[in-house]
Amino acid sequence: MTNKVIITLAPTGNVPTKEKNPYTPVTPQEIADQIYACWREGAAVAHIHARDADGKPTVDREVYRAILERLAEHKDCDIITQLSTGARGGAGFFARGAMVSLEPEMASLSTGSSNFPTQCNFNDPETIAYLAGEMAKHKVKPEVEVFDAAMIANAVDLHKKGVIQAPLQFNLVMGVPGSIPATAKNLFFLYESLPPGCPWTITAVGPQHVDLMTMALALGGNVRVGLEDNIYYAKGILADNPSLVRRAKGIILAMGKEVATPAEARQMLSLI
Ligand code: MG
Repeated sequence: MTNKVIITLAPTGNVPTKEKNPYTPVTPQEIADQIYACWREGAAVAHIHARDADGKPTVDREVYRAILERLAEHKDCDIITQLSTGARGGAGFFARGAMVSLEPEMASLSTGSSNFPTQCNFNDPETIAYLAGEMAKHKVKPEVEVFDAAMIANAVDLHKKGVIQAPLQFNLVMGVPGSIPATAKNLFFLYESLPPGCPWTITAVGPQHVDLMTMALALGGNVRVGLEDNIYYAKGILADNPSLVRRAKGIILAMGKEVATPAEARQMLSLI
């Protein structure tokens, strides 16, 4: 088990608004600047969503391009970019995969359907095959987003069929209402369901997120934090992205582990 831990930052997502949390970055400049600030705190991967001029979720390729261009203006920042192809960004798989051709290092790939609080997390076989194919075409590494146990088995099946390549990188997304609840029992179940030797991270949503993150670290997992997943730092206290990264780093160091740099994360995720 490596002693290094990758911190992924998810600064925006599709749900948080400035009304709910004024620290939510929504414009390309705000998103890029938050990623940069969090890279300085120890984040090695940025999981990026885009918003339109009204702050609404969008899969508009040009908005994604603007975010990447603003981020590139921070010339010393070598953070790994991971663009979301998630179901909440827009309808239709062509639209959801349009940003993959911008050739970020990674993109998210949900390998099955579940529910969000008010809509379906829609990923039917045709959608998954299309998005995975786009990623293969553009040499973009998928991160398998696991909202329920079947998505692990589906990812293994996709690998057997040659659609996605090993080593697979998994993100266990727990606590989204309508998908697998964020409990210790469920974490152990998902962990034991993973194919051996694959890097994985935890995204824990809701009040259990610190407990689940710490358990995942003890099991050798990596962690994702950010306003996408939690707009509260603690009960009644609003979070901001750098604070969430700092707390994750503090827990990692207290456990005798080290925070992976982007260069180290590229090796751990087999990006190079
Ligand atoms: Mg996301």
